[in-house]
Amino acid sequence: MLEGKVALVTGASRGIGRAIAEDLAANGAKVVVNYNSSADAAEEVVAAIKANGGVATAVQADVSNFNEAQTLVKTAIDTYGHIDIVVNNAGTTRDKLLPMMNEDDWDVVLDTNLKSVFNCCKAVARPMLKRKQGGRIINISSVVGLVGQGGQSNYAASKAGVIGFTKSLAKELAPRQITVNAIAPGFFLTALTDVLADDLKEKSLAYIPLGRWGELPEIGYLVSFLASDKAAYITGQVINVDGGIAM
Ligand code: NAP
Repeated sequence: MLEGKVALVTGASRGIGRAIAEDLAANGAKVVVNYNSSADAAEEVVAAIKANGGVATAVQADVSNFNEAQTLVKTAIDTYGHIDIVVNNAGTTRDKLLPMMNEDDWDVVLDTNLKSVFNCCKAVARPMLKRKQGGRIINISSVVGLVGQGGQSNYAASKAGVIGFTKSLAKELAPRQITVNAIAPGFFLTALTDVLADDLKEKSLAYIPLGRWGELPEIGYLVSFLASDKAAYITGQVINVDGGIAM
């Protein structure tokens, strides 16, 4: 489905990003596995992709940093010749009720989750436009960006920002056949959510209509579809993969 395509996945050293990178590679894309600090984990992802017959390389960059995002995109293009698909997945949390939330908690979450999306889109837009072959940008938001969550005002603001950014950029890039969509996951077990107390995990099931947390490949399947030619007529959308939480 994605043979000949090159994909960059930010924050692909574990969790949802890893599942996305593996699915894209299994569908034939060459994948740049970005990470910030987890070099060994990123190399493990690359090894798993190669063991499955795929092509991948790990590239370190802090995507919250404008210049590092520029260098990341340049490295990806130098490595594989071009970029067709960018998945902005890198993200973090610093959950606190507002009275306890400090400026750093706000800045780190907004920079990692939202500014990174601007940084990577900014870096990739010009080369994609110049190449005149269309393109796919897929931004990982969250159901929290749609419905909010106490203790996550910084995170919710960043993820709601991703949605507004996605729709605006989709309008800008549509004339050049570059689609821009967002995915809003619900609950998936990763390092990000494993810190939640067990009773909170249990309670979450009560408001998930499908009655379970998602499986990581369930995000990967959707990303590969959105990245494919079959999704050429879908842009500016927010697709929830949340077991029905936000319906
Ligand atoms: P995770 O397991 O904590 O993985 C986060 C990934 O992001 C890691 O690979 C990490 O790499 C990378 N990363 C963090 N800061 C980075 C930076 N500045 N530059 C480059 N990479 C960076 O989290 P996850 O649960 O898979 O989350 C992935 C995305 O899905 C996030 O955007 C998250 O908000 C979103 N999401 C998750 C859930 C869920 O239930 N898990 C639900 C809704 C949305 P390093 O370790 O190398 O820094």
